[in-house]
Amino acid sequence: MNIHEYQAKEVFAGYGIPVLPGKVATTPDEAARIAAELGGTVVVKAQVHTGGRGKAGGVKLASGPEEARRHAETILALDIKGHPVRKVLIVPAAEIAKEYYLAVTLDRAAKRPVIIASASGGMDIEEVARRTPEKIHRFHLDGPGTFRSYQARQVAAKIEPRRSVFPKMATVLERLVEAYWATDASLVEINPLALTPGGDVLALDAKISIDDNAMYRQPRLAAFREDESEHARIARETGLSYVPLEGTIGCVVNGAGLAMATMDLIKHYGGEPANFLDIGGSSNPEKVTTAMRIILADPEVKAILFNIFGGITRCDDVARGIVLALEGFSIQVPVVVRLTGTNEEAAKAILAQAKGVEPADTMDAAVKLVIARAGGPRA
Ligand code: GDP
Ligand code: MN
Repeated sequence: MNIHEYQAKEVFAGYGIPVLPGKVATTPDEAARIAAELGGTVVVKAQVHTGGRGKAGGVKLASGPEEARRHAETILALDIKGHPVRKVLIVPAAEIAKEYYLAVTLDRAAKRPVIIASASGGMDIEEVARRTPEKIHRFHLDGPGTFRSYQARQVAAKIEPRRSVFPKMATVLERLVEAYWATDASLVEINPLALTPGGDVLALDAKISIDDNAMYRQPRLAAFREDESEHARIARETGLSYVPLEGTIGCVVNGAGLAMATMDLIKHYGGEPANFLDIGGSSNPEKVTTAMRIILADPEVKAILFNIFGGITRCDDVARGIVLALEGFSIQVPVVVRLTGTNEEAAKAILAQAKGVEPADTMDAAVKLVIARAGGPRA
């Protein structure tokens, strides 16, 4: 899960990382009021779960309340890479002498967390890595509590050799590492970490990605999960992995691998999946009905495909769920079902009694059939 910049800054501040105090607005008037309160030049910043806001016009300097209002109006109307802007952060504008990059993330290949530090801050780090890889410094971490102050100073000195600056950066880095461990983050990032003309260091941007599997022990961070849609929430609470997409074919599949293979095959035959939905290993009928409810709420869905490979998942449980869903809510769209594996015969017997279900024997046949039912392959 990603949280917003203003939320990440709150978290960072709690670990003693210097950030400027700002406030969030949802309307231009509110933005103007906050700008007036703060006084002086402010920055109006889109709060969306994606980077590159600056380039997309989502970060703008304003000399006072009136300009802040105008910028807020523009930014609140933006859609940045598919994320509509609903909130803006208003913060005092810092003067910047230099921008740096600091992050801690997991190095999967090394199976250890890694600090990434660069003197080229404020830019897309992937771009820095591509164009000037020598400007990126890495330092691998062992477990919590093992990162020492002298190591922090060594890393900081690589990106800023000046004695008046690097010790301050080292302190920020130590606190960032602490925040990384304490929040179960998969990424903590400050880009840019700014040096002011007065010699202070400040986190002007903040990003935290949290491991969803750790959410149960991060209640404070879980409370930041607000932008989630109602359906995403129901799916999560039911233990379904659900990702809405743009197409017309609703998919209910068990296992992420099978879900991806199913989506690939739909595309291969000229269809478009409406979602990724994995009902997971265990298969109580209720999960299936919830899955159906979520899919049917999407008005674009023209047909539904069940593709179930029974292992731990029992086909008869899924079949019962389908029957329950068919009885429970009026289903206006064709339903194609392919079930194979554990308790397949029992499942087929259950579905044979059900009206409105079209069985298919193979994945290939099922996908072709559901595409036909959804209106045929794209031209
Ligand atoms: P991102 O584009 O989504 O990463 O958003 P950032 O928060 O990093 O902002 C983009 C750029 O705007 C930064 O790299 C800075 O150059 C600039 N910026 C952000 N905050 C301030 C500020 O307080 N003062 C000044 N002068 N520039 C800022
Ligand atoms: Mn940034």
